[in-house]
Amino acid sequence: MFENLSERLSGVFDKLTSQGALSEDDVKTALREVRVALLEADVSLGVARDFVKAVTDKATGQAVTKSVTPGQQVVKIVHDELIAVLAGDGADAGALKIDNAPAPILMVGLQGSGKTTTTAKLARRLKEREKKRVLMASLDVYRPAAMQQLAVLGTQIGVDTLPIVAGQKPAEIAKRAKQAATMGGYDVYMLDTAGRLHIDDVLMDEVQQVRDIANPRETLLVVDGLTGQDAVNVATEFEDKVGISGVVLTRMDGDGRGGAALSMRAVTGKPIKFVGLGEKMDALEEFHPERIAGRILGMGDIVALVEKAQETIEAEQAERMMRRFTKGQFNMNDMRLQLEQMLKMGGMEGIMGMMPGMGKMAGQAKEAGFDDKVLTRQIALIQSMTKKERANPALLQASRKKRIAAGSGLEVSELNKLLKMHRQMADMMKKMGKMGKGGMLKQAVK
Ligand code: GDP
Repeated sequence: MFENLSERLSGVFDKLTSQGALSEDDVKTALREVRVALLEADVSLGVARDFVKAVTDKATGQAVTKSVTPGQQVVKIVHDELIAVLAGDGADAGALKIDNAPAPILMVGLQGSGKTTTTAKLARRLKEREKKRVLMASLDVYRPAAMQQLAVLGTQIGVDTLPIVAGQKPAEIAKRAKQAATMGGYDVYMLDTAGRLHIDDVLMDEVQQVRDIANPRETLLVVDGLTGQDAVNVATEFEDKVGISGVVLTRMDGDGRGGAALSMRAVTGKPIKFVGLGEKMDALEEFHPERIAGRILGMGDIVALVEKAQETIEAEQAERMMRRFTKGQFNMNDMRLQLEQMLKMGGMEGIMGMMPGMGKMAGQAKEAGFDDKVLTRQIALIQSMTKKERANPALLQASRKKRIAAGSGLEVSELNKLLKMHRQMADMMKKMGKMGKGGMLKQAVK
């Protein structure tokens, strides 16, 4: 999967990384090529555009890291952005919700998408990996062969299927499956609904009926990854009409262009949970954005190199800062960095908790209403200061304070609080320096 896209991108990046210095034009040209490569891989226009914009913004805003070339740095940015596009906010990625036995899983999709095959693959996976007792039922009353197919697959993988009763409607079969799963002590029951060649109202009505009976924990849409943009459109329609919890992209073993995988999350807001990689029963993989991004770019070495370099730089910066702090040089730029770190590290409580002897202060801070919103506001105040003021907060007299507070839409009293906190921190750091070797401080700035 992704061979073509991968090849195209590596062409672009080989050129970029072999150059020592890069002009803005070099990067622009490269990103234009990235955009074309994405479009050729059938990534939707909006997604490709947003992608390139995000990369451009990040590449422009980033300081050049020592010991890697700018090209290598761009590769890393593209890599991270790929993961972001594939993973979205990542909130609902990962395992299926199958607690509360028997947990119903509804399988939906167009005919020929690989729905029945995927149902069986997934059942096998739940049985083998999670030791679940699974019952599968086919609701495809239009094609007796489809029911038969599921029964055959069930026998093959050692998973039970609901006995076929001729003449029943999908809703009736769903009820029977629910009953059988409850009575039979199954952990999961899977409903393989009928597909059509195209989305139509009858199909949607039927799926809705079944959904309302089963009240599924997961509704997985199976789509053919080879159909590219269409797969994304189908997903959008199913999401609108039925509501889905995730997507399984099949035929990702083919030489498809893979764009569906890249657009899916951004366009539908739904995660890809699994990918189908062949006809065999074990050809199903969990979808890992990092792994896929790695495969698309095929530049793991460079990504690792840049990560390492960034870590080294951060450590050096921390050392330098520490030396200055212990000499009493702690200005507003440092303060801002500290505040940003605090936000990253779980706020005030998080960082105080890491500093020995400061647990109490964390408690006090909380009592005083010092939450993460305060941190954000304080950062805004620092942003409203001039360069000179940041370097030398002693300059901040009444008129300057008024200007700064107004500039960030906050009260002067809030600025005073920030200044007080700054003084306390500066003092504390100086003292710690005297106490020896900055051991505690090291934890705080890291
Ligand atoms: P349904 O009509 O949606 O139930 O589709 P089927 O499950 O019957 O699958 C249709 C065909 O696609 C079958 O020949 C499957 O073996 C094949 N198929 C399903 N998933 C994959 C996959 O991930 N890769 C490949 N290469 N073939 C697949």
